[in-house]
Amino acid sequence: QQMVADSLFILNNFARQYFSKNLFESEEGQAIGLSYLKERGFREEIMERFQLGYCLQTRDSFAQTALAAQYSIENLQKSGLVVVRDDKPLDNYRGRIIFPVHNQTGKVIGFGARIIGKSDRAPKYINTPENEVYIKSKILYGTYFARQAIDKFDECLLVEGYTDVLSLHQAGIENVVASGGTSLTMDQLRLIKKYTNNLTIIYDGDAAGVKAALRGLDMALEEGLNVKLVLIPDKEDPDSYVNKVGAASFRDFIDKNKKDFILFQLEVQMKDVGNDASKKAAVVTHVAETIAKINKLEDFTKQQDYIKKCAELLRIEEGGLVNLVNKFI
Ligand code: ATP
Ligand code: MN
Ligand code: MN
Ligand code: MN
Repeated sequence: QQMVADSLFILNNFARQYFSKNLFESEEGQAIGLSYLKERGFREEIMERFQLGYCLQTRDSFAQTALAAQYSIENLQKSGLVVVRDDKPLDNYRGRIIFPVHNQTGKVIGFGARIIGKSDRAPKYINTPENEVYIKSKILYGTYFARQAIDKFDECLLVEGYTDVLSLHQAGIENVVASGGTSLTMDQLRLIKKYTNNLTIIYDGDAAGVKAALRGLDMALEEGLNVKLVLIPDKEDPDSYVNKVGAASFRDFIDKNKKDFILFQLEVQMKDVGNDASKKAAVVTHVAETIAKINKLEDFTKQQDYIKKCAELLRIEEGGLVNLVNKFI
């Protein structure tokens, strides 16, 4: 098992170097890959730090190079770098920008490969398939580059995508990791908890972003994390928004729009209640349950504080909410 893992690390590192050389030194890489990234506003310094690359459009230039260097076809397939069609090895990421994904110690465990421009036929991103070292439910993109800053600020920002992480770094915000667009898992939250108790989720302001964020809340509370939320304005994501307004305004926006997650959830639910008494009762019960999850013994005052604020938002007596919360403890 460890031998397979080690050989995948070595192969991934070989691939990372090969793709990087193609991005910065080949004519095609410069003309297509580098100019695309520059147009999006990424500076070379950030591309180098995150070890970005480019996969040539040729059918099998990487596959042939790797096979000539004695890498096995089994591992090439397992790593997702090469697929076999009609008995022929074919580069899987042809014509795409390569984002290496690093583990906490900086080893390359896999790749995200983005198509250049748009296409109706091909997916925007292709990611490494699940294998011995690429275990999707445990991966947060950018952890290796964020650890020091997370320590320093005792806070971890969570965004959706690769390019959000890069653009925030470029804006001087380095305590940031990405979930890869999928809903958060318990393992990912535990990874964050190893570094800090304070999680700020910065998701796209669209309905899908809000929904994805809310789904993570209960799990995060159970892990004992303090969760804050920032919603990026309509149709933007952190990457596009920071490029639109600039680094200083973006940081200002984040500082001013951090919402407490429990209160945010309650506000969303209250909008839906109207004059419906049974709907309201359900919301009250749910809030009581949520407050009960806040780490019991350690944080009595925090719990008291939420009870006060939530009772206000619900327009009910504090004492009634206290009783209900106690039922769930
Ligand atoms: P870009 O700025 O390059 O368009 P993005 O990060 O804004 O990328 P989103 O559509 O917001 O892209 O998706 C968020 C994240 O979800 C991506 O960074 C990627 O990790 C993952 N993702 C998106 N589309 C796919 C896909 N078709 N297959 C697998 N993963 C995907
Ligand atoms: Mn989105
Ligand atoms: Mn996005
Ligand atoms: Mn984007």
